[in-house]
Amino acid sequence: MSPFAFPHAIPASVAIANSDARFPVHRIYCVGRNYEDHVREMGGTEVNKGTPIFFSKPADAVVESGAALAYPLATSNLHHEIELVIALKSGGSQIALKDAAAHIFGYAVGCDLTRRDLQALAKSAGAPWDLAKGFDQSAPISAIFESAHVPQQGRIWLSVNQALKQDANLSQMIWSISEIISALSDFFELKAGDLIFTGTPAGVGPLKRADQVSAGIEGIGELHFSIAN
Ligand code: MN
Repeated sequence: MSPFAFPHAIPASVAIANSDARFPVHRIYCVGRNYEDHVREMGGTEVNKGTPIFFSKPADAVVESGAALAYPLATSNLHHEIELVIALKSGGSQIALKDAAAHIFGYAVGCDLTRRDLQALAKSAGAPWDLAKGFDQSAPISAIFESAHVPQQGRIWLSVNQALKQDANLSQMIWSISEIISALSDFFELKAGDLIFTGTPAGVGPLKRADQVSAGIEGIGELHFSIAN
């Protein structure tokens, strides 16, 4: 007999490219302000490296490539943010910079969907970002590309209805992949199954009903989704 009071949800998971196995999602962490041109477009003037800004989304916010997403509740300004996603195969706390790469399973193309109007309200009130970032279906993601190689560069782009909106390079990231893993592990014990969205370059903007989104990262993959009518 099940020890649970009622049937529990199957854990969220993501496809793995060229594999029948699936990647079980433990947690979704995100980095804010990791490309200088995006910091500036959001009104920031000073880019100081300091400590990364971290926030999170629920594990079941993942949506696989090809999906039609419902336009989210409680917003009239849904924004796209194309991001490189790190997928971990192991973890730990206080991971040294030199050891960080050993925990990487692979990478994916993710979109950190954001209720920009709620984020603006939260920022002005000094309130948490959960309502702006951690909503249902807020993490569309491609299949995970297994790789032990840590990319230093590669084109990252997103188009809406075939119009290019974001077009940048991973080399513009302020915090590197290893620096992000190491810094995040000072705050959380990272685990196999964790996904880390690493921040977006400039060009974020609104999505409306019936929009078709295509995105990709050179050497990693592509992500496609639409917003339902
Ligand atoms: Mn983001």
